[in-house]
Amino acid sequence: MHYDGGRENLLFQGFDNYSFVGDVAVIAICVVVGILLTTSYISRIKSLWIFLTITLELMVTAGVNIGYHALLINGDPSTFGWIYALRLIYNVLIFNLLFLFILYFAVASNMDHRKAKAVAIVSCLLFTGFMGFDVIQTVMGEGFHITAEGVIINKSYIYLIGYGLFMLILSALMSHVRQLLYKRVMYGFYGTILVSLILCFGQMLFRQSSLTTMAFVLPVIAMLYIMHSSPYDVTLGAVDRRSFENLVHTLYEKKIPFVFLSLVLLDYNAEGLEYSEEMKMTIRTFSEEYFHFRGGGLFQVGSGRLILVIPKRNNVNYEKQIVRIVDAFKDRYEVLRSPYKFVIGESIDEVSRKNEYVSLVKNIERGMEDNTFCHIGPEEIRRFKRDEYILQELTDIYEKQDLNDPRVLTFCQPVYNLRTGTFDTAEALMRLNLERTGMVFPDEFIPIAEENGYIHILTMIILNKTCRAIRVLTDEGYQVDRISVNMSALDLKDEDLCSMVEQILNAEHVSSSKIALELTESSSEADYQVMKEKLELLHSKGIQFYLDDFGVGYSNMERIMKLPFDIIKFDRSLVIACAADERSEQIVGNMATMFKNMGYAVLYEGVESDEDEQRCREMSATYLQGYKYSQPVPIEELRDYLATAG
Ligand code: C2E
Ligand code: CA
Ligand code: CA
Repeated sequence: MHYDGGRENLLFQGFDNYSFVGDVAVIAICVVVGILLTTSYISRIKSLWIFLTITLELMVTAGVNIGYHALLINGDPSTFGWIYALRLIYNVLIFNLLFLFILYFAVASNMDHRKAKAVAIVSCLLFTGFMGFDVIQTVMGEGFHITAEGVIINKSYIYLIGYGLFMLILSALMSHVRQLLYKRVMYGFYGTILVSLILCFGQMLFRQSSLTTMAFVLPVIAMLYIMHSSPYDVTLGAVDRRSFENLVHTLYEKKIPFVFLSLVLLDYNAEGLEYSEEMKMTIRTFSEEYFHFRGGGLFQVGSGRLILVIPKRNNVNYEKQIVRIVDAFKDRYEVLRSPYKFVIGESIDEVSRKNEYVSLVKNIERGMEDNTFCHIGPEEIRRFKRDEYILQELTDIYEKQDLNDPRVLTFCQPVYNLRTGTFDTAEALMRLNLERTGMVFPDEFIPIAEENGYIHILTMIILNKTCRAIRVLTDEGYQVDRISVNMSALDLKDEDLCSMVEQILNAEHVSSSKIALELTESSSEADYQVMKEKLELLHSKGIQFYLDDFGVGYSNMERIMKLPFDIIKFDRSLVIACAADERSEQIVGNMATMFKNMGYAVLYEGVESDEDEQRCREMSATYLQGYKYSQPVPIEELRDYLATAG
């Protein structure tokens, strides 16, 4: 600063105690925001362009303010024209910034289009009005002007009124969109704006103007952090699921087709499982070496679940790149040996629209062996759509809670009793009969029902329908010892299981001895404890228990013996093994005899031929079940197998 007869002094000191520091800092912050935007993944939600405009405009505004004050300090009369101009430009920019903030909130909160437009128009009119008023005042010598002696005179409060009005509009808008945004997000913005206001108020008290643009930078930082930052997992270089969904949405809206590579690492695919350091390093190195695609990126959409998105536009070499990635992955797998499933596919409009890629991938993985690759083709899409439909129907069944739901069918497979030489028991097997698909078999819908928590209602429906059939058949004079119903391990976790079972039996007037429940072994200790209590309670009421699928996977004899099982069902795989070699026959035979001696009854599943039957008879069988006697039939047709009294 220099003195020249005191004139500049007057200009400079008399008007405001301006210092360049504020505006220089604002420019620096905006540059940093720019750097952050280009080096990190940004959520390209609709309001991003407003955010970018605000940041850019803030830099310009700070620059203009610096220029304006530089001229004031310099105080050269030949530049007075410029002073007027820069002051006007500065104010136009500041108001435009306020206007953009308003627009930003309207767009980011997905406010109703018509209302957003009305707010925008009103603000725009007000803003033009203030500007016009200020210019007229200045021309008439009433507002801001510099006298020939270089003294600044400003009697106009128009901008102050303007700020006040705009702040009112902004607060009204924010309280209006309050319901549309997550509460804590709103608190974030309220807090930031409050700090800005305090800053402005403070500088007014001290007749200052150095921090005006700084007050505008604070909300920009809040926007960047709250709305547009989607933090990388800094150890992996992958971005979160929300960002993945945002990207899919944007690509869909812009009609940009893309390819995606999905990888699930089975060792890490459960909530809360941490990658090993070696695995983290591998993923990071992959991110750095192979995942540079314009407009795409690597996303971590769940534990152990990564998706790479490659927009086809701007990435001409994507096919070669994919081959490179897959080859490199296979090499790396030789070292890491962590089981995986790899799915590669192209964007599909319908899936993009509903943002369903994670479900699609999970669906495809279900049918895949470990450590394999799958390219999604029309067949996979067809199955996915079928499963989606099944899920929709299951959801509806769940919501209706109708124990007689006509879509759930009870089939029955009669079981031959070697002691009596009759079919006096049977196994209830579930089918779905849906409008668009017709009959659906358990291997298709049970996994879907279990994953979505709908298995329990299905079990209750089957139990209900089975009880009704038992009552009808008994009333008609048929001899039914009991019918067994399959239970899922998840059923046993349900709090109301015991009371529901009792309720259903009572409602149908069926004695608990007519019902048995089939269970498979569960491997976890926690499951076992829950299972034990419920089983004992139901068993004490007279319900019998079958151990299903014995011989599949691992068997813990100690646990089996501690649970109240009555019948052990030897899985079909054992029957097949016995047909193939004598050693298996010996082992299976000994096991069956052991169970028999301990007081259990032994049932062989999957008896298909006379030879199977003969062999099973010699291996301590009490019950035989299989296609040799009957396929599963609708429960009404059980009449054809049952004996009648007398
Ligand atoms: P599971 O409990 O082992 O049921 C026996 C399955 O073996 C039935 O298949 C039956 O049709 C089939 N099967 C019977 N005899 C033979 C044979 O001689 N040869 C061959 N190859 N197969 C035979 P299904 O009905 O398709 O049921 C498949 C699985 O779905 C069942 O296996 C069971 O785990 C599950 N499931 C069926 N109904 C229900 C249910 O109501 N609730 C629950 N939680 N699961 C069910
Ligand atoms: Ca079964
Ligand atoms: Ca079985």
